[in-house]
Formats: sequence, structure tokens, C-alpha cells
Amino acid sequence: MPNEQPTVRVIGTGGSIAGVGPDRIDFILYPEIGDHITIQQSLDRVPEIQDIAEVRSEDLVSVGSTAIGAAEWLALARRINQIFRDETDVAGVAITHGTATLEETSYFLHLTVKSTRPVVITGAMRPPTALSTDSDLNLLDAVRTAACPEAVGLGVLTVLNNEIQCGRDVTKASTFRVETFRPNELGFLGYADSDGKVVFYRAPLRRHTVDTPFMVDDMTTLPRIDIVYSYAGADGLLVDAVRNNRSDGLILAGFGGGTFPPAVIDAAVKLVEDGIPVVLATRSTAGRVVITPKKEEQGFIVSDNLLPQKARVLLMLGLTVTKDRHELQQLFYHY
Ligand code: ASP
Repeated sequence: MPNEQPTVRVIGTGGSIAGVGPDRIDFILYPEIGDHITIQQSLDRVPEIQDIAEVRSEDLVSVGSTAIGAAEWLALARRINQIFRDETDVAGVAITHGTATLEETSYFLHLTVKSTRPVVITGAMRPPTALSTDSDLNLLDAVRTAACPEAVGLGVLTVLNNEIQCGRDVTKASTFRVETFRPNELGFLGYADSDGKVVFYRAPLRRHTVDTPFMVDDMTTLPRIDIVYSYAGADGLLVDAVRNNRSDGLILAGFGGGTFPPAVIDAAVKLVEDGIPVVLATRSTAGRVVITPKKEEQGFIVSDNLLPQKARVLLMLGLTVTKDRHELQQLFYHY
């Protein structure tokens, strides 16, 4: 009899969803202990997944996501692109990941996966060893969403707490709540809900996956981009450090709609004069930073509504295709 079930590839990377605490009421010590179960052990805890999909699993790395960076992003993108190239029967890919940097990995993959098939990232706020863990249900929901035909063409999605979000817009908004992943002001895309259904209400309009120019499969490194945060009374020390370090670019997190302490902007102008791209973002947790005649004349790029850590991902990728400021600016308007 032919197998009616969709096939889902599940890739483990570690994080709280695989964390091992000393007892059932430990919610904070386990990341420092650093032990993780394997992705197969995570799947074994949820045999119900076998009723949803045929799963093939692998561990890419086994770390807290505080230790995830460009090397792991490139390895993940390469592996996912390889799976979609070689395994035509795979309906989608689900990834388990720590919640600390999940939002950055999700945007990176949203821009670099070269398939319309679903890629769904999940994590957990409470490890599998803790009371009321969200690990098992989030994993089940991620597999359900990765197997769902309606998720095709929506780019990289995140699923936690039954909420399906766009990998571009999602951010971790609270330290310990299970409903920590929020899409800022934009609304989430749908539910992987209690009745077992995956339902969508909206689709991302910014370009992603197959509609980006970012081809990273042969890359081993990415440009170095730093972020400098503004605060009342800040001087140019940290921007000068970025300049002296010869970084490839800078994200400046300013106030509100894109204003900065005068000494910070003066230091940033020198960076621009050196030919280093500087993207103006905001430390406000939502909303756009827009261009003004003065910012244009000073040579800055604006982040649109990308949070600083998301703007960093786009600038890292943008610099792999162009060094031109105006072309880089266009990327921030379209991705
Ligand atoms: N320390 C964890 C991490 O790997 C936190 C989490 O997963 O919630 O990001």
C-alpha cells in the first residue's frame, strides 16, 4: 500500500526544546548546564507525530542558540537546500532551535532557502524536563505545519505556542512567557491549533526564499556587521571601535523614528566616509525608520521596520551581492 503520509525532515540544533534540567522545577539553570537530548529523543517523546508525517531526523549541532552564528546559519541553509534538491518526496523541513537567536536564524533562512516548500522553526520556553513544558507540543505543531500544503510559498515560518509567524517579522518579546514570540505590529499568520488544524489568514508580502538573490550554499563566511545601541549621553566610543576594527558594516540602533546622540552620528558619518555602510535602525520595538534629506546627504541607509538584529542579517547578506548604498537601501525596502 502506498504511504499516504507526507515526509518531513526534522533537523535538531539544541536549545531549551532539547534542554536537560536537574529537576522538574528548574526553568533557569539548565542552559548553563548545557546538556541536550538528541532530536530523535525529542521525537520519541511524541509518538503522535507518526500519525502526522513520516519523519526523517538528524542533529546539525547541539548547542544553546546563544552559540549560533554565521557558520551555523550557512550550514543550515546549505543542508536545507540540499534536502530540497535531492529529496523530492520531502514536503517540508522542521527545525528545533533555541529561542535566544531563533528570530535571526528564521530571517536568515527566510532569505536564503531556495525552495517554496515549508521550513518551520520551533523552540521552547520550558525544557522537556520541566513541568508544563512546551517542547513536545511545539515540536508536534512544527511538524504539522511543515507537512501542510497551505504553508507552501509562505517562506520560513516559526511556530510556538500554537502561533504561526513570519520568519522576517517574529521577535522574542518577553524573557520567560510561553507567548514570547510576537510579530511586532504586523499580526501573526495563522494557528497550529488545538483541533489539530493548521490554518492561515495572511501571507508575507516582502520578498523571500526563491525571490531573493542570496545564494549562500558555497559560502563559508559572511561579512562582519556590528550593532551599536544608543542611550542618553552616548558618545562615539563604540562607533569608533567598529571603525578601528574595520568591520564591514554597522547597524546603529537609535531612538524612536531614527534619531541619535550627536556624538554617535558624528562618529557614524566618519564610518560612511570610509566607505562602510551604516544602517539606521531603532531601539523602539516596532515601527519604521525612514529616510530624510539629511540622512540621505550623510550617506546613511535606513532599516525600514527591521529590528537591529534583523537589519544586521539583511546587511550581511546584502553585502554578498552589492556594495552600492542605493542598492543596499532598496533591499531594505523589499525584503
Ligand atoms: N538558552 C536557550 C537557547 O538555546 C534559550 C531557549 O532555547 O529558550 O536559546
